Amino acid sequence: MKASQNTFAPRSSIDQAARKTLPSFGKHANLIVIGAGAFGGWSALHLLRRGFKVTLIDAWGPGNSRSSSGDETRVIRSTYGSNEAYFDLNVRALQLWKENEVRFRKKLFFNTGVLWFCYGEKTPLVDDSLPFAKKHTMQYEYLTPQEMMVRFPAISTQSLHHAYLDPFGGYLMAREATRCVQQSFVKEGGNYVQAHVKPVMNNQTMDSIMLSNGNQLRADAYLFACGAWLGELFPTVLGHLITCTKQEVYYFGTPAGTAPSFDELPVWVDVDGTDFYYGIPGNTHRGFKIGVDLRGEIFNPTTGERTHTPEALDKARKFIGYRFPALKDAPLVEYRVCPYENAPDGNFIFDLHPETENVFLLGGGSGHGFKHGPALGELVADVLSGNKKAPDLFSLHR
Ligand SMILES: Cc1cc2nc3c(=O)[nH]c(=O)nc-3n(C[C@H](O)[C@H](O)[C@H](O)COP(=O)(O)OP(=O)(O)OC[C@H]3O[C@@H](n4cnc5c(N)ncnc54)[C@H](O)[C@@H]3O)c2cc1C
Repeated sequence: MKASQNTFAPRSSIDQAARKTLPSFGKHANLIVIGAGAFGGWSALHLLRRGFKVTLIDAWGPGNSRSSSGDETRVIRSTYGSNEAYFDLNVRALQLWKENEVRFRKKLFFNTGVLWFCYGEKTPLVDDSLPFAKKHTMQYEYLTPQEMMVRFPAISTQSLHHAYLDPFGGYLMAREATRCVQQSFVKEGGNYVQAHVKPVMNNQTMDSIMLSNGNQLRADAYLFACGAWLGELFPTVLGHLITCTKQEVYYFGTPAGTAPSFDELPVWVDVDGTDFYYGIPGNTHRGFKIGVDLRGEIFNPTTGERTHTPEALDKARKFIGYRFPALKDAPLVEYRVCPYENAPDGNFIFDLHPETENVFLLGGGSGHGFKHGPALGELVADVLSGNKKAPDLFSLHR
């Protein structure tokens, strides 16, 4: 795998590596999914709906504060530069989010649109996605700085050439959605266990897993979707591929009386080519949320202290004062530390553990995986039931 520049545009071309067809299983096979975040939770739900007997296990619970899926909100956007595979995956995910929020009876997707701040005449990250948007009849709207000032007076347009508004994107209630998926899984007949899991490897098959409650569970196949923990669980296979970094998001307090002008903004991304600050409205009134796509320090997702880094916060403050002048002196009202589970090239990993015939690895969300959860879970169910080949893009040997 080669390194990518950032989360917003994983490398699209892959080395031609022969990918073995992954094993598949008969309808009533007994499967265990470890990790109830966006990747594991949705996979377990789709596998269950295919007729498999499924147990889902999580050490700290779905959407827990240590997990990547545990923050309030996550962006859902189709824009992936020239990477059509993720554009298409997002289109399917969006459809599944909409269908499932009806099934869950919970509003999880907020269609605010996504506003891309573009500094130059051409911004490959956005412009290269325009043909895909056209293909799906999901076109973006081009806004001049003058038009932006009228529509979004809270935003300063300094140094911007234009903006694009993707009216189909928005944000997802992440923590709540992760819990909804697990609750639905149980309601629909799945077995959920809260325990920490240790894999027990035995030549080419995994016989069983050990649970922290002393139980030993056996299944026909095991899917490990343990986010930032995958590297330490499988050090020889994933230790060098999944790196966990400390990522911070901040919630700033808007001045009294101005909240609506910030709450009603779309999701926005500042495509300055270096830092990539982005913001998400809503957040059940926790404040004006901003994040940055720069990779933080290496982090241990179990023992790492969740405190903010003063220099990173200072930079974020400077940025919001520049782009949102009314927030120049806004106080920090909350913050959150989440782990990125980075694959070197930013692409997801879905593959068989190379030393086994029944252990599957799913992860490498790399700071952009949440939105894709339902479509990725569907893909996992398609592959394990023998209906589809796993994409080369997600292979361990790409
Ligand atoms: C700051 C930040 C901003 C992001 N922004 C976006 C965004 O805007 N849009 C987007 O789409 N994505 C975004 N992402 C990425 C997205 O959140 C992740 O890719 C996604 O949540 C990963 O889900 P996961 O299921 O792989 O991992 P997790 O959510 O971390 O789930 C893994 C689970 O495994 C469990 N586990 C671990 N080890 C064990 C064990 N041994 N036994 C049992 N259970 C175990 C954990 O408790 C955890 O619940 C962002 C991530 C961060 C950190």
